[in-house]
Amino acid sequence: MTVFIRFFIMSLLAVNFLAAVLRTETIPAASFSPVTYNIVIDAGHGGVDGGAVSLSGVQESHINLSVALKLEDTLALFGIAPQMLRREDISLHSSDADTIREKKRSDLHNRTAMIDQIQDPILISIHQNTFPQPQYHGAQVFYAATPLSQEIGQRAQQDLSCHLDPSNQRQAKKIPETIYLLNHISCPAILVECGFLSNPAEEKLLLRDDYQRKIAATLAGTILTFFTPITTLQETLS
Ligand SMILES: [Zn+2]
Repeated sequence: MTVFIRFFIMSLLAVNFLAAVLRTETIPAASFSPVTYNIVIDAGHGGVDGGAVSLSGVQESHINLSVALKLEDTLALFGIAPQMLRREDISLHSSDADTIREKKRSDLHNRTAMIDQIQDPILISIHQNTFPQPQYHGAQVFYAATPLSQEIGQRAQQDLSCHLDPSNQRQAKKIPETIYLLNHISCPAILVECGFLSNPAEEKLLLRDDYQRKIAATLAGTILTFFTPITTLQETLS
C-alpha cells in the first residue's frame, strides 16, 4: 500500500468519524428542550365564595372546579402534572379570617402566596362571566402584565374562539387592576372567562360535561403549543 492510498483511507475514516460526532452532538442535544415551567391551575372562587350565579342558580365556583379538574386530566395524558390550587369546593382563607369579606381577601392572599412558592409557575385561572344583559356570550381571555402572558393569552383566545364559537370576535385583554390575583403575581398568567352564565344558550353549554371537556382540551392544546418544542415533533415524524 502506497503512502498516498494509506493517507486517502485515513482521511475518509476521519471525515466519517467527524460526521458521526456531529450527528450525535447536534440532533438530540440541540433540538430537545425539556419543559421548565410548572403549570398552575386556579379554579376561581370556592367554598363561601361561590362567585357569579348562573341563570338556573349554579354557582360559578362549581363550574370553574369542574373545568379545572378536566384540564388536569387532559394535561396528564401528555405527561404534564399541573399544580392545582384547589381540588374541592373550598375557600383557601386562613383560619383567622372572620367575615365573608375577610375570607375572600385572605383566600386571594393565600392563592398568591401558594403561586409564589412554586418554581417557574405559569398560571391559568378559570372563571365564568356574567353581565346584566343576557345577549353577551363567548369566551374572554385576560392576561397579566408579566412576561409571556400576552402571548399565551392571545393564543388561548384564538384557540377558544376557533374551537368553541367561531363567531366570537373577542380579543385577549389586559387584566383590569381590580382583579387581585393577576396583579399580584410575577409569573406569566392568564385568566379565562369560559363564557357567560347570563346568556341562556351559553349557560346550558357551560353546565354540560362534554362542553367543559372541550374547553379543557382547547386550553391543554394552548399550553402544549407553548411547551412542546416543534423541532422534536418534526424529528419524530421524519
Ligand atoms: Zn369569577
